[in-house]
Amino acid sequence: MKKAALNINFDSLRTIIYQKSYGDDQYLEKVDDPCFFAILDRFVKLAEKYGVPLSFYMIGKDLENTKVADRVLHLSKSGHEIGNHSYSHISNLGDLPYSKIEQEIYKAHLIITDVLNGRTPDGFIAPAWSTSRNLIKALIKFGYAYDTTLFPSFIMPLIQLRLKLASDQGYKKSISVFRKDIWGNLLGSRKPFLASPRNPWNIVPFSRGNNRDIMCLPLPTIWPRIGMWHSWAFKKSKAEYEKMLRRAIRANTAFYLLMHPADLFCPETDIRGFPESLLGFDRMSVPLKDKMERMKLVFDVICSECDVVTMKELAENQMAECRGLK
Ligand SMILES: [Zn+2]
Repeated sequence: MKKAALNINFDSLRTIIYQKSYGDDQYLEKVDDPCFFAILDRFVKLAEKYGVPLSFYMIGKDLENTKVADRVLHLSKSGHEIGNHSYSHISNLGDLPYSKIEQEIYKAHLIITDVLNGRTPDGFIAPAWSTSRNLIKALIKFGYAYDTTLFPSFIMPLIQLRLKLASDQGYKKSISVFRKDIWGNLLGSRKPFLASPRNPWNIVPFSRGNNRDIMCLPLPTIWPRIGMWHSWAFKKSKAEYEKMLRRAIRANTAFYLLMHPADLFCPETDIRGFPESLLGFDRMSVPLKDKMERMKLVFDVICSECDVVTMKELAENQMAECRGLK
């Protein structure tokens, strides 16, 4: 049976409130972020029901809250994977200078390792899938086994353009429609590969087998190079989404479905203590019942067609293939 993984980019409510990067903690001082409590419980309950592991990518700053850190340690002890999603979720991370990228990765690395009692994270994904040669270089330096930031689809510049047009003046300036990873979006490999700073998108596979490289698991795609993640569930009918899912499983050698806490956010109960304006963002106002139906569809389809493993296992499996051991 084909191996697949369920990948949760753990974007807490703070990432939506402070889009560009984390601001002060006024909301989290007053009230707990439901992402780490009610919403996390919904994901874990589904995982237990289907008997599968989940792979969570956590933001370092969130884990400075001891209640959140306790929950994350518990997840790890229950067999779920904890990966690194940077320290403060700067949305154009890949475009920043090397020293800043290194700092964002390493600060989160240290916090996660501390929370997990010495266990280091193996995988990384940058905020907004923003990657670069420097990002790959820093991940290799810190010994990461795999990276899952590459978004090999032409829809990324379109997403950036839409975001730029919809954002307020302050945030608008920091959004580039054509980021440093544009060639990765347009021409980068859609299959897993060994990435290095010289060969970050595998357009010209000249550094294959290099010792200084990292396993890259690009976002799965379907024809004609459309990035596939759970947000499509809110743009398509249930039947169309199911078709897309099954096509994506068939089309990708290392299929994983990327999801967010917003995908199980309840607009009636989880909004308490937070600004109502949050409901204006993508899918936030969709009732939990509808979200649950879509999420159950995901688990039904993927668990029936695939052997669900952690992202780390998926990466190790691909690593063996890339190195010719399989
Ligand atoms: Zn994120």
